[in-house]
Amino acid sequence: MSGTGADRSGHVVIVVGAGPAGMALAKKLADAGHEVIILNRDIKFGGLAEYGIFPSKLKLRGGLKKQYWEMLEQPNVQYFGNVSIGEGKDLTVENLRGLGASAIAFSIGAQGTKAIGVEGDSAQGVFHAKDVVYHFNRLPGFGDRPFDMGKHVAIIGVGDVMVDIAHWLIRYKKVERVTAIARRGPAERKYNPKEIRAVCSNMDLAGIAQEFARIKDRLTAVGQHADEVQAGMTAEFTKCESTGSPSKMGFRFLASPKRVLVDASNRVRALEMEDNKLELKGDDTAAVGLKRLYEFPVDSVVFAVGDRVDETVGLPYKNGVYVTNPNKTGNDPDDALFQAYDEKSGQTIDGVFLAGWARKASEGLVGIAKRDGDWCAEVIGRYLAARASRPRATMADVIAKLQAILKERKSQPVDLDGLRALEAVEKIHAGAPDAIGEFKFASNADMLAHIERGRR
Ligand SMILES: Cc1cc2nc3c(=O)[nH]c(=O)nc-3n(C[C@H](O)[C@H](O)[C@H](O)COP(=O)(O)OP(=O)(O)OC[C@H]3O[C@@H](n4cnc5c(N)ncnc54)[C@H](O)[C@@H]3O)c2cc1C
Repeated sequence: MSGTGADRSGHVVIVVGAGPAGMALAKKLADAGHEVIILNRDIKFGGLAEYGIFPSKLKLRGGLKKQYWEMLEQPNVQYFGNVSIGEGKDLTVENLRGLGASAIAFSIGAQGTKAIGVEGDSAQGVFHAKDVVYHFNRLPGFGDRPFDMGKHVAIIGVGDVMVDIAHWLIRYKKVERVTAIARRGPAERKYNPKEIRAVCSNMDLAGIAQEFARIKDRLTAVGQHADEVQAGMTAEFTKCESTGSPSKMGFRFLASPKRVLVDASNRVRALEMEDNKLELKGDDTAAVGLKRLYEFPVDSVVFAVGDRVDETVGLPYKNGVYVTNPNKTGNDPDDALFQAYDEKSGQTIDGVFLAGWARKASEGLVGIAKRDGDWCAEVIGRYLAARASRPRATMADVIAKLQAILKERKSQPVDLDGLRALEAVEKIHAGAPDAIGEFKFASNADMLAHIERGRR
């Protein structure tokens, strides 16, 4: 069903965050005949599909963009980019709740970063993965900031984000060496074998063999066969893409960074690492420190150990996640998992929902975030159906109140026409020398100026 004309429900739902989860959620709600208002921090929609997925994955990004444009062009969807929700932002959560919409869904991703909290982790040359990823994807605020990586970069973590960062360091920064550092062993590596193709032509195979020899006894102790694990890992170095770079990439396993060691100007010079062994834990393994410390010289360190949500937004927060209703409903999908919950009052926050990485930080690829958005739409659909007879504000009322607040705060929201004007200018710049993949302006000010010019 398309949400046009007589089949409209009359319910207005606000979706905060236009990443893969929010866009899926908005589409389902719009298709079900609800009026949808999307508010998004970034001027452009897409979230990590625009500012996270590696810029050269043009096919994936292009396909998503096409779907998102189609959804935004539905008559019962209104887009407001460059609008952030949070304390001291364009609107607070309370402002939003006061607009009169029937429901609000937060699909704002996981904007915080996990830290392992080691001494020296604020030194020059220490970076969080998300900042680096935002930098090479040219998210305003990050695109034009210098990222001085030096010659030898340690990336803490062995997931797909590590591979993306290594890819950028090798192909575009052409650093001398990248070392991925793992608390556990090679059998517990987390990256997708297909992703490693982006960097496997730069693998230091001799160095990797030495690393396996160094940790062999510790793998044997938990019944892992080092030779087999090595053969399995290196067999994935197939269909390697050419990077045109002399950089070398290696791994350091069974190693926990304990301190970032700095020089006299507080610049990274090494990591102090502790050797680990593996212990069996059910079907899995755990890393256990051996209290053997050593120095590992590096010029910079990137922590790629996962994300957590932004606790400053004003949603109930605990231990890196927003709190959801602990009282399961038994529905499939379970409504409770998507309902924001106030532990103090022991009540759900009426009409407030969560989806995507805002609900489960770092959980899966775009397809998983999309499915979460779809599920959240189902839950919201049930919520609205149960409130069918309640009086409700119209789209025009909600938008009028929203615009009044944005005007008072001197916010500069960007609508669909603005996005079209921006896209037209970006296309003219495509192929600019500093653009990996598509061209992007590095600041909101540049984008807003071009949008203004494009409108005239
Ligand atoms: C480095 C990296 C590479 C990845 N590569 C791939 C890949 O190759 N293939 C793949 O399938 N998946 C990939 N993923 C995973 C994919 O990006 C995520 O699954 C997906 O983007 C999560 O969607 P989301 O909508 O929950 O959050 P996000 O994509 O983070 O979207 C959140 C949205 O909320 C907005 N927002 C944030 N805070 C606020 C606020 N306070 N107020 C208003 N709006 C706000 C943001 O502007 C953004 O538009 C990658 C992830 C990362 C980190």
